[in-house]
Amino acid sequence: MDQIRIENLRIFAHHGVYQEENEKGQNFYINAVLETDTMSAGILDDLSLSTNYGEVCRFLDAYVKGHTYKLIETVAERTAEALLLTFPLVRRVTLEVRKPEAPIPLTFESVSVRIERGWHKAYLSCGSNMGDRRKHLEEAVAALRADEKCRVLKVSDWIETPPYGGVEQDDFLNGSIELSTLYTPQMLLEKLHEIEQAHGRERKVHWGPRTLDLDILLYEDRILYTKDLIVPHIDMHNRCFVLEPLMQIAPYAEHPVLHKSVWQMYEALVK
Ligand code: ATP
Ligand code: CA
Ligand code: CA
Repeated sequence: MDQIRIENLRIFAHHGVYQEENEKGQNFYINAVLETDTMSAGILDDLSLSTNYGEVCRFLDAYVKGHTYKLIETVAERTAEALLLTFPLVRRVTLEVRKPEAPIPLTFESVSVRIERGWHKAYLSCGSNMGDRRKHLEEAVAALRADEKCRVLKVSDWIETPPYGGVEQDDFLNGSIELSTLYTPQMLLEKLHEIEQAHGRERKVHWGPRTLDLDILLYEDRILYTKDLIVPHIDMHNRCFVLEPLMQIAPYAEHPVLHKSVWQMYEALVK
């Protein structure tokens, strides 16, 4: 990915654990590497197709001056997030906050925190077989769209599918969603649970009827196996109701454990 780099932007601000630091203030230096595609702007010599580094500098200055935090970790975290939310073409940012005047009674050049944050592509599956199924699914999409840390990029058709897992119940309406998100997988799962709760989801029977079920299928090429979250979804390759809508929006997305595309998994299942 192309980069726009800002080096040692000096900002006088008031971050620090000590009251004196908050009152007097000191110099902070910011290094920012913005990952973005500069090719169209470069070919056409057109700034409107790129991210204006002057605007980014003014933004950083206003943000870092306009807030007061104890930790430079927090300065870095909040500033990176605000930057990613404000400049739509920036996909990732590496942000370093240096504090050369930190109150340490020893000789040193600088202390700093450096973080990398960015937008991540994720695929979700959604399903409903109770009440107004279409409304539940559409409201779930609307709830994701309303969250500034999620950008809904694609939504499949809603397809009618028979229930899975042996519990006698009504047919499902299923679909899948492509998302770009600032959330970590764990934070995204919490967000999905919140949306499910808002739709009256109750966990009574495993694989039983539900107003709304939102699962994480893929999150970049991340592999996770924890108590609360398994990514890729552990059973996605065995489920037509997951793969059929996912085929519509991401046939070439790859399962990072099985090393198969959605299309290959679907073919293997329907053969
Ligand atoms: P299945 O996961 O087989 O589709 P389900 O969706 O009916 O079953 P739920 O009752 O909705 O199961 O979820 C049970 C738990 O599964 C959730 O609370 C969550 O902690 C965990 N879980 C693990 N991996 C995932 C994932 N990839 N997406 C969503 N939930 C997950
Ligand atoms: Ca599920
Ligand atoms: Ca679920």
